[in-house]
Amino acid sequence: MTRPTVSLIEGDGIGPEIAAATVRAIEAAGGQITWERVDAGMAAVEKHKDPLPPATIESMKKNRLALKGPLATPSGGGYRSVNVTLRQQFDMYANVRPVKTIPGVPSRYTNVDLVIVRENTEDLYAGVEHYIDARRSAAESIAIITRFGSERCIVYAFEYARRHGRKKITLVHKANILKLTNGLFLDVGKEVALRYPDIQFDDMIVDATAMKLVIAPERFDMIVTMNLFGDILSDLTAGLIGGLGVAPAANIGDGACSMFEAVHGTAPDIAGKGIANPTGLMLSAAMLLDHIDQRAAATRLRTGIWAALASAETRTGDLGGKANTATYTDAVIRAMA
Ligand code: NAD
Repeated sequence: MTRPTVSLIEGDGIGPEIAAATVRAIEAAGGQITWERVDAGMAAVEKHKDPLPPATIESMKKNRLALKGPLATPSGGGYRSVNVTLRQQFDMYANVRPVKTIPGVPSRYTNVDLVIVRENTEDLYAGVEHYIDARRSAAESIAIITRFGSERCIVYAFEYARRHGRKKITLVHKANILKLTNGLFLDVGKEVALRYPDIQFDDMIVDATAMKLVIAPERFDMIVTMNLFGDILSDLTAGLIGGLGVAPAANIGDGACSMFEAVHGTAPDIAGKGIANPTGLMLSAAMLLDHIDQRAAATRLRTGIWAALASAETRTGDLGGKANTATYTDAVIRAMA
């Protein structure tokens, strides 16, 4: 088995605690990874006076893989969001968020098991906005959808479906109203779907999708959609399984770098107390292991996580349990045996 080098950004706040727990759990699961530790966020400002030092960019360029803890963007001082800069710098065009019911974790639904693939670079989030005059009597935002941007994201979704044994992709849009932009995304989706006859394909209007996700989320397998709808629907679906604390994510970019990260932030209120829940980052690490074809280790890691979350004795406090970061991680590792 090859042993890839992965840039590890521990991050700020609870980042170093959950990163240490995750590295331990990956090693126990048999993951073969060499870590290259690099700085970003507040930790990097303190050490290098730069929230995103050139050495961090160079490491990610070289390794093309990163596992990242949450980052605090320093307020004031003219700093840009490091998360946004990283996404742009490495052209990470697909944001992948799997959402699966976790036995034992309190939530309104059972049997949720779906994946959202969100286009990450275009749409209304391309940032093309202006006032039409100096009096600010109106403002315009331009949604940009390209064939290139749509196709690479939709192809990624189909390839993901094949690799992970997913059966059906629903393309979500508003092409009945936004006939050109959303119509283009839908047309490209239909064209790409013809190349994957083994994966079922349908499409759904975004408002109907929101309703159906709330009524019967178990009917969805995979969703592929544009940036704005993906942003909203992926938080909605995280809410279906108990919230952001257990939600993993991957930012995928073909040529440059793929970056895996928990969805939650730096949790400054509990930083340094040893009680943070590392599940979001651990599940992101399981996605990284899948991505580098270390499937057996990914499965062992997930098995340990599901088992430790099943009991209040071994769950962390944010999920109503009695464990802290270290005892939860011990339980994850024990359950892999
Ligand atoms: P947050 O996610 O950090 O915290 C919200 C609440 O959830 C807090 O009460 C926190 O204690 C709790 N929480 C979050 N993760 C937890 C975990 N793993 N275990 C236990 N409890 C957990 O959101 P916030 O307070 O809005 O943001 C704090 C900082 O994080 C801000 O600087 C923000 O910019 C940053 N942030 C970074 C990212 C990222 O790097 N991807 C994402 C979101 C927010």
